[in-house]
Amino acid sequence: MNYQSILNDIHDHVVSVEDKGTVASYIPELAHVNINNFGLHLRTKDEQEYGVGHYNTPFSIQSISKVLALALAASKEGSSILNRLGVEPSGHPFNQLALLEIENGIPRNPFINSGAIVVADVLVSLFDNPKEHFLNYVRDLAGDDNINYNMDIARSEKETGFRNYAAANLLKSFGNLNNPVDDVLECYFMQCALEMTCTQITRSFHMFANKGKCLLEKVRLTEQQVKRINAIMLTCGFYDEAGEFAFEVGLPGKSGVGGGIVALLPDNYVITTWAPGLNKKGNSKLGMLALEQFTTKTQLSIF
Ligand code: GLN
Repeated sequence: MNYQSILNDIHDHVVSVEDKGTVASYIPELAHVNINNFGLHLRTKDEQEYGVGHYNTPFSIQSISKVLALALAASKEGSSILNRLGVEPSGHPFNQLALLEIENGIPRNPFINSGAIVVADVLVSLFDNPKEHFLNYVRDLAGDDNINYNMDIARSEKETGFRNYAAANLLKSFGNLNNPVDDVLECYFMQCALEMTCTQITRSFHMFANKGKCLLEKVRLTEQQVKRINAIMLTCGFYDEAGEFAFEVGLPGKSGVGGGIVALLPDNYVITTWAPGLNKKGNSKLGMLALEQFTTKTQLSIF
């Protein structure tokens, strides 16, 4: 299969689409990004890599970080974190609070904000310096020490993170947060403010397509953990658009409001797109289109 020419065709089609969605502005610092950026990067099981467009430009990974944080927490804690979290799609936006109140402070899944805040709480309990530990973990997975936090984005999110404060306070009131709200949110805002390129994201997700072994073939997760995290990506990775993503693309994956989407076919490939314009559900509009084209053209999806 000529992957490079498939990526080139997708790129040419996608950049010509006029309605590119809307750049997230509820985190003010995110609004500065150029909506015309588009990057696509693929790594196949035979270790070949292909890229097109802005695939080596760093961007804010936002909620893509939730998968890596969950992987780190699960690798240390095992399935006990499931006592504090569900694995069902919420059918609601990522920052919705009503379900959390109704369901007594147990978030539906680790990829909505309240669930990711519980995972951040686990990391704060586990490590003396959770921010540094998480950064080093991601650098190791990607094999790249140039990955860093963007402090301006972290600060911007902290200043406007009223709903995340509300979620963390609700969790605390239900006894589902062991550390102080400020410490946990500090960790959560920083993980979301990590900047990575499409290439770095693709490489850091290699373990999810490789039965738990990272680029260096070191075992990071058990096969059961990989199966489970991939399942949560499929059912919850796109919030109240998870059904649509499965329908159009047919891969486990995760989006972020920085416009990134990473998706993978187990034992086969990892692919990352970046297009900052979002649709109404907060997922990258052109990223979804690009991935739909990729799995349709290659006929390589889990279905
Ligand atoms: N940092 C963002 C928030 O908490 C993450 C949301 C997202 O990427 N969907 O609102």
